[in-house]
Amino acid sequence: MSGITRKSPAEVALMRRAGAVVAEVLALVEELAVPGASTAEIDAAAERHILAAGASSNFKGYHGFPSVICLSIDNEVVHGIPGEREIKLGALVSVDAGAIIDGWHADAARSFYVGEAPPEAARLIRVTREALDAGIAAARPGATIEEVSAAIEDVALAAKLGIVRPYVGHGIGRAMHEAPQVPNYRTGRKSLTLAPGHCLAIEPMLTLGSPEVGVMDDEWTVVTIDGSLAAHFEDSIAITPEGPLLLTRP
Ligand code: MG
Repeated sequence: MSGITRKSPAEVALMRRAGAVVAEVLALVEELAVPGASTAEIDAAAERHILAAGASSNFKGYHGFPSVICLSIDNEVVHGIPGEREIKLGALVSVDAGAIIDGWHADAARSFYVGEAPPEAARLIRVTREALDAGIAAARPGATIEEVSAAIEDVALAAKLGIVRPYVGHGIGRAMHEAPQVPNYRTGRKSLTLAPGHCLAIEPMLTLGSPEVGVMDDEWTVVTIDGSLAAHFEDSIAITPEGPLLLTRP
């Protein structure tokens, strides 16, 4: 398990500052995502907020990604690009956002429904959030990544939701994506035992139908192949002696 760094309490404090900005951006996007809103304008507002907070974007320019947030709608799972598209009533919107302060990264995502969600969409959103919370609760010193993965998988399986497998959670710190990977399902492989200072971004992506996904012609947007709805919740956390510390909630 080489290459997996442990952050000092001072470094975690900087990540917490970056995470607070991310939490603000997620709340701002949810507030702005009303019917008729332009996704490009929501992205621009997110960028203004990040810069005004003294942070910078870790998404924009990442392997050429053009925006500071990802907006993935309905059967889009992750990595949707803001643009000409408008937000519609009855959309399931997933927003993923990140920020950097003094070289330290944070990354988080939320899904929400525009208008009153039909029962199945509401259940998908609720269970995906519960899967994230179960993964976070399992991320205690002495636990393994496999136990975090199992906690997420158990919530998804109990609800008979699909688990998107090609995209997984990750370590985070000086870079947005660090070792180790944090799968949303059991791998059966030996995994890292968590200790204070390990920082993770845990991010279940669940679907109402088949979990099979593909990438659109824009080479970014990940969609369910069967067109079923998808949800995505993510938080960055630090492992502390007392348990998981949430870096990306208010
Ligand atoms: Mg992430």
